[in-house]
Amino acid sequence: MFKIWRLAAALFLLPVCAIEAAAAPDTAAEQQPRHSSNDSGWTMPSAIVLIDAGHGGIDGGATADSVLEKDINLAIAQKLYLLLNSQGIPAVLNRTGDYALSDDNRWHISGSRHRRDLSQRRQLTEEIETQLLVSLHVNWTKNRTKSGPLVLHQGSGESALLAFCIQDTLNRQQQTSFLPREGKPFYLLRRVDQPAVIVEMGFISNESDRAMLTDPRQQLRVAAAIASGIRQYKWVTR
Ligand SMILES: [Zn+2]
Repeated sequence: MFKIWRLAAALFLLPVCAIEAAAAPDTAAEQQPRHSSNDSGWTMPSAIVLIDAGHGGIDGGATADSVLEKDINLAIAQKLYLLLNSQGIPAVLNRTGDYALSDDNRWHISGSRHRRDLSQRRQLTEEIETQLLVSLHVNWTKNRTKSGPLVLHQGSGESALLAFCIQDTLNRQQQTSFLPREGKPFYLLRRVDQPAVIVEMGFISNESDRAMLTDPRQQLRVAAAIASGIRQYKWVTR
């Protein structure tokens, strides 16, 4: 249960937490074992962050100039995975190659591959014990001048705070000043229990964003900004 005073204090602290988070020591929670047992005695994998690499396989996501969103999402997700784990924040990645998660879904009887894909992503949040879900995507619009990052959150305070932290670090990285938004219509945000955000890392339809999102060095900077936002959130809510 989230405490309102804690959110108020956290938002008040936001301008300073960007500086302090870098120096903040790892909390005990961040040092937790990578596996835990549930009531049935099964050993379940556990982590702090579940990184959802959007789309995959037959589902390429948004596309522009023969660049596919699924490839950008995967490349940055892998970098984020390595960064978080190296920074003492155990993370797991739900897609490590170019395949559709709907192919793994043998339990949801639905004619819609898209539906099975999304329900599989949600199911993983229940099977893998994690505290946060960070879903990586790239935006697209007809207006090719539109650029910049946008973080979407659930109605809860925790999700909004996580979104504020990631939006803030992405704004610094991309020299923008956008605010996060509540992403009401999005299935993952509606159906996942833990704090979850969708990170639209930039616009594939914008030439300079596309160049940034497909360059491995720039991808690392995007991943580092997201990791920094997650660390800020962890520091504020510890
Ligand atoms: Zn997407």
